[in-house]
Amino acid sequence: MSGAGAPPPDDELGHDHEAEPGEMPHDGTAADAGHEHHLGAAHQVDPASVVPPVEIAPGVLQIDTLLGGWQRMTAGYLVTGQAPVLVETGSQSSVPVLLAALDRLGLGPAELAGVAVTHIHLDHAGGVGDVARAFPAATVYVHPKGARHLADPTRLVSSASRVYGDLLDSLYGRLDPTPPERLHVLEDGEEVRIGPDRVLTAVDSPGHAKHHVGLHDSVTGVLFAGDAVGVRLPDLGILRPATPPPDFDLDQALHSLHAFAARRPSAIALAHYGLLGDPLTLLEEAESTLRAWAETATRAWEVGEDIATALEARFGADTAAIPPEHREKLEILNGFHSNAAGFRRWLETRNGAGADPATGAADPASGS
Ligand SMILES: [Zn+2]
Repeated sequence: MSGAGAPPPDDELGHDHEAEPGEMPHDGTAADAGHEHHLGAAHQVDPASVVPPVEIAPGVLQIDTLLGGWQRMTAGYLVTGQAPVLVETGSQSSVPVLLAALDRLGLGPAELAGVAVTHIHLDHAGGVGDVARAFPAATVYVHPKGARHLADPTRLVSSASRVYGDLLDSLYGRLDPTPPERLHVLEDGEEVRIGPDRVLTAVDSPGHAKHHVGLHDSVTGVLFAGDAVGVRLPDLGILRPATPPPDFDLDQALHSLHAFAARRPSAIALAHYGLLGDPLTLLEEAESTLRAWAETATRAWEVGEDIATALEARFGADTAAIPPEHREKLEILNGFHSNAAGFRRWLETRNGAGADPATGAADPASGS
């Protein structure tokens, strides 16, 4: 993949010297669409257009970061206390909306103590550099394998531009660097203190991405699961696995679901989107769905069929009755092509040669 770049010399930030900064969980077909620059991230926001934050659990405020103007698609969560921490910024294009929401909550520039990203995909972390600038006292918490890409986003952004094409600028925006001294790498089990009686515990949760970490709130028991459980948009009501290239790994993803279950959360907050009760049932559903998708993908790959076509044939009916404007949100965030590309890369990697057994074609870039 992006192997041409020299490894950044930042051992103190991350221990990951592999070449891939973690491409994006989105539909690979977007890369075909050329490259235009439409949308600046600095657009002013009409405060009236900001969805009022909702307290979904004691001291946990859900902020709709309105990716692309769509509601109930990307969420950030503010965990309140003496040292409040924001979980997920959303994309850079969401920053004006996010800052307006934080302002509405009365959070002054000196008051945000931390920003934690579950992983460094742009729909979760694209706003980090901007938010760090707006809140100069905030520490930025990130998985060890993501830190160096927040400090120097060059390769992450160029990788994302290949995957997204013009959606990079028209929908997501990019990622401004975070000063390295503002970064704090979260090891598994590490606690981020929010108050005398409140911590967020980091749960290493690779699978969706190798730089993925969940955060478990000690007060409410809510587990902020990022994308490790999948995507379930309230307007669709269907849980889908999120298996993008280049990192997706089935065993790791299943292990992460088990790690979440072992923490006995009271509820699970998805980045896409919202709080879900009955977490153990949800985690079981996530596991069985993921296994079913992996089985379909594997079978298609083994006989040389197109994985996206096979996934769509088996699982597309789930959303057939849903209005197209809602389906479009899911396709942008977590489309069949993106998931198929992730399965394909995983299958190729697992089977060694990086070659498709049916065509013999090596396709390390995992396009769909
Ligand atoms: Zn996401």
